[in-house]
Order: sequence, then structure tokens, then C-alpha cells
Amino acid sequence: MIATSYLEISAKAYRQNIRYIRSEIGPKTVISAVVKGNAYGHGIQQMVEIAEKAGIRHFSTFSSDEAWEVYRFSKKKSEIMILGMLYPEEMADLIKAGISFYVYDFQRLDLAVTISKSLGIPAKIHIELETGFHRTGFEWSSREKLAKTLAEEADHLVLEGLCTHYAGAESISNYVRVKNQIEVYLKFKDFFLHKGIHFLKYHTACSAATLIFPETIMDMVRIGIAGYGFWPTKETYYAKLNSLPKNNKNPLKRLITWKSTVMSIKPVKMGEFVGYGNSFMALQNMKLAIVPVGYGHGYSRLLSNQGQVLIGGQYCQVVGTVTMNAIALNITKLKNIEVGDEVVLIGKQGSKEITVASFSESTQQVNYEMLTRLPKDIPRRIIP
Ligand SMILES: *Cc1c(COP(=O)(O)O)cnc(C)c1O
Repeated sequence: MIATSYLEISAKAYRQNIRYIRSEIGPKTVISAVVKGNAYGHGIQQMVEIAEKAGIRHFSTFSSDEAWEVYRFSKKKSEIMILGMLYPEEMADLIKAGISFYVYDFQRLDLAVTISKSLGIPAKIHIELETGFHRTGFEWSSREKLAKTLAEEADHLVLEGLCTHYAGAESISNYVRVKNQIEVYLKFKDFFLHKGIHFLKYHTACSAATLIFPETIMDMVRIGIAGYGFWPTKETYYAKLNSLPKNNKNPLKRLITWKSTVMSIKPVKMGEFVGYGNSFMALQNMKLAIVPVGYGHGYSRLLSNQGQVLIGGQYCQVVGTVTMNAIALNITKLKNIEVGDEVVLIGKQGSKEITVASFSESTQQVNYEMLTRLPKDIPRRIIP
């Protein structure tokens, strides 16, 4: 079976990104590679292989199903940490497998203690603190009760981490909010230390915090988007630009390339409409290339009459609406294009490049969203 498009994932680009992140955080801090959302669309299986080869031994997932996927593909007995969802009935198996998970309320904490006791295996937990994100996490007001439980049940718990997540570290405009979060986190940390409660790792930073709030770099950083070669926002890049060496102003390299092929070539006469409805009318005689990728494959409908791809080393414009399985590209000016020719949806062809950012600008999708919408069943090939 041959799919209508495929993704290439560059292991070399990943190694470069990790080298850059390492240069920012110093030699001791652990990098947890965040592989939620099917590794931001790159594929969990492929990213576990690439990351382990690049020396990564810690992975973060949102949910237990993703954690099991990492577990299955890991060849180096890497640590796995669940940042979010798990069902109570899965907890025993996770504890047996040594997979750690966030604990953000007493319900999950009590369950972890109960199950650990019955298994005779301590649960590896990360206590998540509410510092201002207002999604999950223990409130400041619950600290006494929390400390009491952690102390009393110390035999049944491995306190792997004390953690929180920042609400908008990717923008300097959230500076005050982030600073307040750091303060609340440190207050919690002190409180536990005074009670004699220690955690193995203190960790708070995502990519943006790591890059522009260096005080958030502690024992571990949880790196998602930067590992895949993207700045969390333009602003994070600009904030960093001055400190980058002159000969390497872009240390983050994109891993992903998305390719397809020309399926058919179609002449269209002046005055005819292309595709559904009447969003595009040919103002001259045209030649179109039909490419078998549509919104069903993660190529947003918002790219109708907006998107660009590379064919024959040239930018070609999407004409008409993006349909479920196909797009039409204007190749009127190109010569010698044939059925079967390579089409680049993201990435380089010759000297030209389509970036994920260019996609995101015309769709208002952040790159995180564009990437995670790439369906799981598009084949992903690792390029060494
Ligand atoms: C997604 C996530 C991260 C990684 O965020 P990036 O911006 O992609 O680096 C880190 N921590 C938590 C809790 C997350 O949910």
C-alpha cells in the first residue's frame, strides 16, 4: 500500500536542536522530550527512536495511551511521565511499569496510595501545583493536608517531582503573570522543604520558559515545540535573537518535511470555475496540477486559494477550495511537469522552502495545531 503523501523526519535536525537546548540549560538539567499529540504530529514511534539515539532518556506524554506507546517503542528503558489524563483502572499497570504521573488532586493521590499499598510497589508521582494556570494542580490552601499525606504515606510513594506549568511564557506581555507563578512555586517548594519533604526533581519549564525565563530551568525541562525545531512564538525568537551567535541566528531546525506527488494535470479555460462553488475563476487559460492531499489529511480548508506548495522547484498557488482529499495548484507557468512529480507541502525543494509558519499565518493556526492535525496514518520516514 502506498499512501497519498508522507512525512520525512530529520534525526540530524533533532540532534542540532537538542545540542542548542543543552547549550542553554547546562550539562546537568534533564531534558524531558514532550511527545504528546503523537509527538506534535511527528509520530511517537519515530520520535522515541530519534530522541533515544540523541541521548534522551525522559519522555512526557499527556495521557496513558501515549505513555504505553512510548513504553512499547523505547529501547533504552527511558523514564516516562504522564502530564495529564489516566483512568483509575489503568493506574496499577502504570505503577507496575514504573511509569510516573502527575498528581494534581487528593482523589488521584489517595488512589495512588491505595494501589501502591495493594501492589507493594511505590507509585512514582509528580505533585503538580496550582500557581496561576488554573487548569490542574494543588491549591496553596491545601498545602498542610498535602504535606501530611505525603509524609504519612512516604513508604508508598516516590516523590519524583514537584512541578507546575506556566500560563503564557511564550510572550513577554505575560511577564508579570509568569513572575508571580515562579514566586508561588518557590513558596510551595520552601514550604515542603521546611516540612522535610524533598522531591527528586524540581521542574517547571516548557520550551518558551526555558528559552526566555532562564530562572525556570531547574532539575528538568519539559521540551516540546523547540525540540521539533520551532520557536514557541515569533516573540520568543526575537527575545533571543541578540544573544545568538552571528554565524548561527537560527539554531532550531525543522524536522518535518511533507511530500506528495502530482496525481493529474488539467487544462482549464479562461472563465471556468475551479473546484466546488465559485471561489476561483480562471482569468486566463490555465494548467493545474491535482495533488491528493486535502483537509482529511490535515491540509486545512482555510488554505483554499491561499496555500502554496513547491512543484518543479517553484512556488505554486492553491486554486479553489481545499477538498477532503485533494487540492488544485496553478502550474500554468511551469514547463515539463508530469504526473508522479514530487510535491512539497512543507519543506525544501531546490532553493525554495515552505515553512510551517507560512501555513500558520494564512490559517491563524499556531504551528502546534497545524502539526498535531497531521493524521497518524500518514507514513513517517526517519532521515538520518
Ligand atoms: C505541552 C507541555 C509542555 C511542552 O510545551 P512546549 O511549549 O511545546 O515546549 C511542557 N509541560 C507541560 C505540562 C505541557 O503540557
